[in-house]
Amino acid sequence: MPTLNDIRSTFLSYFAKQGHEVVPSSPLVPRNDPTLMFANSGMVQFKNLFTGVEHRDYKRATTAQKCVRAGGKHNDLDNVGYTARHHTFFEMLGNFSFGDYFKSEAIPFAWELLTKDFDIPKDRLLVTVYHTDDEAANIWKKVAGLSDDRIIRIPTNDNFWMMGPTGPCGPCTEIFFDHGDHIWGGPPGSPEEDGDRFVEIWNLVFMQYEQFEDGTRRELAAQSIDTGMGIERVAALLQGTNDNYATDLIRSLIEASAHVTSTDPDGPGKTHHRVIADHLRSTSFLIADGVMPSNDGRGYVLRRIMRRAMRHAHLLGAKDPVMHQLVPALVRQMGAAYPELTRAQALIEETLRLEESRFKQTLDRGLRLLDDELSHLPDGAALPGAAAFKLYDTYGFPLDLTQDALREKGRAVDTEGFDSAMAEQKAKARAAWSGSGEAADATIWFDIADTHGATDFLGYDTETAEGQV
Ligand code: ATP
Ligand code: MG
Ligand code: MG
Ligand code: MG
Repeated sequence: MPTLNDIRSTFLSYFAKQGHEVVPSSPLVPRNDPTLMFANSGMVQFKNLFTGVEHRDYKRATTAQKCVRAGGKHNDLDNVGYTARHHTFFEMLGNFSFGDYFKSEAIPFAWELLTKDFDIPKDRLLVTVYHTDDEAANIWKKVAGLSDDRIIRIPTNDNFWMMGPTGPCGPCTEIFFDHGDHIWGGPPGSPEEDGDRFVEIWNLVFMQYEQFEDGTRRELAAQSIDTGMGIERVAALLQGTNDNYATDLIRSLIEASAHVTSTDPDGPGKTHHRVIADHLRSTSFLIADGVMPSNDGRGYVLRRIMRRAMRHAHLLGAKDPVMHQLVPALVRQMGAAYPELTRAQALIEETLRLEESRFKQTLDRGLRLLDDELSHLPDGAALPGAAAFKLYDTYGFPLDLTQDALREKGRAVDTEGFDSAMAEQKAKARAAWSGSGEAADATIWFDIADTHGATDFLGYDTETAEGQV
């Protein structure tokens, strides 16, 4: 059974043999793109090659790219602990053609790798194409011998990728694996597609057109390929499970979490361990790439993920900080492929330890306040915004942490009430300032805080390149 580390090597060497340059992952904090919060697909580091702004001495590349999807357009934070196939941090394996090969080579590459090198049974695979992309459908038919009912035509934007409102765009084809009818879920395009039975493993984007401001499109002179495959999903199917969290690498983190909390990895705290294992990876890799917990921007996303994990550790009964104790297990698994993780190990441990010891001071009291509030509410009623705001303001509970806590109980937060409590507090702060006689200057600062403030930061929601749709 191949390990996750084996799968990465197999993928990269397959494409190296096909003339691709093996390029290292770019950092999670995009260098040239302030509009994008974190690298969330393999194409991010190659954006300028696709638009033709930049040229390199290779026309084919392959990568294992670190990705975080915990904010902005792609936000999988709320999926963690609920689906078997989403992480906040994952690795995306990809092959890229910069005006070199196109569909008629990209599809056979993918098929050969999956069915020969990875030896996946053909009858478990099916694909989607954009509904008008007869070319891709015909290639699939010819190369893979897939019957028409296994080439599903999708008319939505799920199968049409655009870099932004203008620029390169084109149809995609997604490859799915069927885990079998013992798992709930339906094929893509069906009402049950959100289940874990049919899992999307690989997305191939055909950059075929250029879109102009007036909405017209023209065929690109240099047509390109951008693909992304989730390594953890492939590891799951190659290791005979539908659950990413049961694969070798993530399972070892779950076991480490069970060990330091002296709990059963598969007992009632199972979901907590899954969340902790996932959040350990995203927080550690973010810190390794220079993000530090703070009250705004990227640092606030990091803080939110850390604190969510810490609540789960607390619910497992952990008395002392635990997250930092798990870092060695992660470094053992991933330090060879990502040396930056090993280099930053001490910093990661110290940052996690400090944040967790600080947050522990208010976490317990905050959770008790939450329970108390809930005990006074009618069944199923939403938590009043004022209470969520108090948790935020006094106990350091990011709103999404409170929502995460309530979701388990089938409840929500009155977010409008939360927003107005926040607005009220800002207004009070403003009023206090205007009394100081410096109103004119202070107003400017409050306006800046309103637009860029920590508290209501939603991520750099952007329409620009975010990889595969
Ligand atoms: P899904 O529809 O399952 O959310 P996606 O269409 O959003 O996936 P893409 O943007 O196409 O994903 O990314 C390419 C590949 O990366 C996917 O085919 C999948 O294998 C993997 N992937 C995407 N999001 C995640 C995630 N949150 N955790 C693990 N793997 C992921
Ligand atoms: Mg998605
Ligand atoms: Mg998808
Ligand atoms: Mg996709």
